[in-house]
Order: sequence, then C-alpha cells, then structure tokens
Amino acid sequence: MTSASKTKTVFFIPASAEERTKSLAEKTKQVFQKLGLEREIEAGSFVAMKIHFGEKGNTGYIQPAWLSGIIKILNVQKARSFFTDTNTLYIGSRSNAVDHVKLAHGHGFAMNALGVPVIIADGLIGRDDDEVRVNLPRIESAKIASTFLNSDVLLCLSHFTGHIQTGFGAALKNLGMGCASRAGKLEQHSDVHLRIDPALCQNCKKCLDYCPADALVQEKKNVAILDEKCIGCGECMVVCSFGAVKWKWDGDDIRVQEKIAEYAFSVCRLFSGKAGFINFLLRITKNCDCMSKKGHSISADIGILGSRDPVALDQASVDLVLSQNKGDVLRKANDVDWEAQLRHAEKIGLGSRKYRLVTIS
Ligand code: SF4
Ligand code: SF4
Repeated sequence: MTSASKTKTVFFIPASAEERTKSLAEKTKQVFQKLGLEREIEAGSFVAMKIHFGEKGNTGYIQPAWLSGIIKILNVQKARSFFTDTNTLYIGSRSNAVDHVKLAHGHGFAMNALGVPVIIADGLIGRDDDEVRVNLPRIESAKIASTFLNSDVLLCLSHFTGHIQTGFGAALKNLGMGCASRAGKLEQHSDVHLRIDPALCQNCKKCLDYCPADALVQEKKNVAILDEKCIGCGECMVVCSFGAVKWKWDGDDIRVQEKIAEYAFSVCRLFSGKAGFINFLLRITKNCDCMSKKGHSISADIGILGSRDPVALDQASVDLVLSQNKGDVLRKANDVDWEAQLRHAEKIGLGSRKYRLVTIS
C-alpha cells in the first residue's frame, strides 16, 4: 500500500493515437520500464493485466498492439501473464465469460496475435469472488473477483475517459468497479438512482430497448423507472436525446465514487506494492468504453502516463486533461463532482494526490 503523505512520481510521455502502432508500443514500453515493476516479477509469476476490452461497437479501447512491447518484456521474464476483466452487471456481450472472451478475441486480444490468453476474472457468470475485509467507512468487506486473489502482480491498464456516474474513469474506476465481481458491482451501484422527468420525456421509447434490467416501464404519457429493478447502469441516460433522464441528486454520485475508491483500495491491498498503473490519455471520449458505439471526443490526445500510485496517476491525468482544454471539460461533459473519488482515495490511504510529473524524453 502506498503512503498518502508523500509526493509520488508519475511518468509521462506525449503521444497521439494517430501515431504508428510501433511508436505507441515503444512509448508504452518505456512508461512500463520506468515503473520498475519488472523487479517484482519472478519466472512463473502470474501477472494480471487488468484491461477493458471495449464493448461491441466501441472504438476507443486500448489497442492490443500498443501493449506488444510490454508483453515482450514479460515473456523474457518467463512470467505467466494474461489479460483480464470482469463480467458486466448488465446483459450484453461482456456479461458472461464465453461471450466476453469472444469479444476480446474479436478486438484483437487473441493468443494468435499477442501470445497472451484472456481470463475472465470472476468466472463464467460473474459469481467467482472472495471477500476482502477492509473495514472502511462505506465497505466492510469487498467482493473481489477470485483471479486477482490468486495473482502475484497487477498491471492496471486504463483508458482515460469521461464517465456518466463518476465524471471521469481511469485507474481508480478500473480497479474499483473493474476488479469486483457482479455482487461487488451491485454493491457499488446500489446508491445510484435515476428518475425520468415527465415534462421532458417525449415517449419515444428508445430507452426501453437499452435497459438491461427491465427497469423501464411505459406509463400513460411517458416512460418511468422502477427503482426496485434499476441497477444504476446509466444506459438510459446516455441514449435519451431529450435529456429526460436525471440523477436524483441525493448525493449518490459521491457515494458511488467513495465505494469505488474503497474497492480500489481492497484490490491494491492484495498486491502489497506489486502493482503498477498505466493510463492512456488517447481518444478521450465523453463516455467510457462500455458504450457500444464510437464515443464523442472531449479532448485532443495527450499521451501515456504511468505510476506505482493510482491516486497520483489519476490526479496527474485529470490535471493534464484540464490544463490542455478550456474550463472543466469533464464537468461540462457529465455534470458530476469527479473530484470525490480522488479525495476519498487519498483520505483512506490508497495513495497521494501530490505528485511530481517526469516527462520521458
Ligand atoms: S429515450 Fe428519453 S424521451 Fe425517449 S422514452 Fe426514454 S426517457 Fe423518454
Ligand atoms: S439506469 Fe436506466 S437503463 Fe440502467 S437499469 Fe436503470 S433504468 Fe435501466
């Protein structure tokens, strides 16, 4: 576990998704080497590379070829490395391990391309988890996908995007929500509540086709949400073109971020310092890679960042995005107090928001 009080080092290399793949693979490798994670990897170690394979139809996810330089290093070290993610709460092409692996293969995360297998961390239908007792303000014990408990080293590879529930999604989100089993995800989402404003709803019914939990019902003149069925995924909010789906604004956006930070803490605790984090600030979209379409861009490409501290890394990533754009583009894209996840992560001792940015030349 990292100490919250110290200034942490974050490495940065400017990059653009338009560069040649070879160049991006080399830059990603350089960031990885700066982390010094190789020293923690012994021959035969299980190295979990946590990543989001991108929903079907999404185009923003981290391209597998960008990781080829890292994989070569891991192979030289004779590590047992693998790509991994957990199943989604909602029904779709990542909600069970069979469909999820097929999707990952379709997006280029295939043995014949990279020589690295894909393992879905919480099993066939998202029920393989273990409790990690942490006794934090919001979570007593986190339900973490079993694969992470059996791995020796964690490399968390995150695509920085805006996010409808948390303002932005990067390392903390990838760790907290991304390493939880379905039960763990449900626990984190349980505070998220939405409503439909009848004055704005045009009764176009589009959202009915997207709800994965059958939580939307047709009423006389508009659609409504059944609270007891809603899992808080936010799909209806994304697809509604009339702005009719609203947060209830009872502090749930803050609570969900605090729970995510506590789940992230639970995952990092498993690795006692044998963890590294890389954020890709490329193709920065309004919404995350769970969206099944090409995302709307909110910033030009910035580069690749890495650190041994996920809090410092996310803070540095946000600072770069804000400094390279006019105003708070994250808040403008998704009206959420995104700072809550960073504040809470530092408060519980996951890491430090103080950092020193070292540019790799
Ligand atoms: S998509 Fe929006 S406008 Fe259409 S039915 Fe759903 S809430 Fe109403
Ligand atoms: S947030 Fe919307 S789409 Fe998601 S489960 Fe609730 S009602 Fe359905």
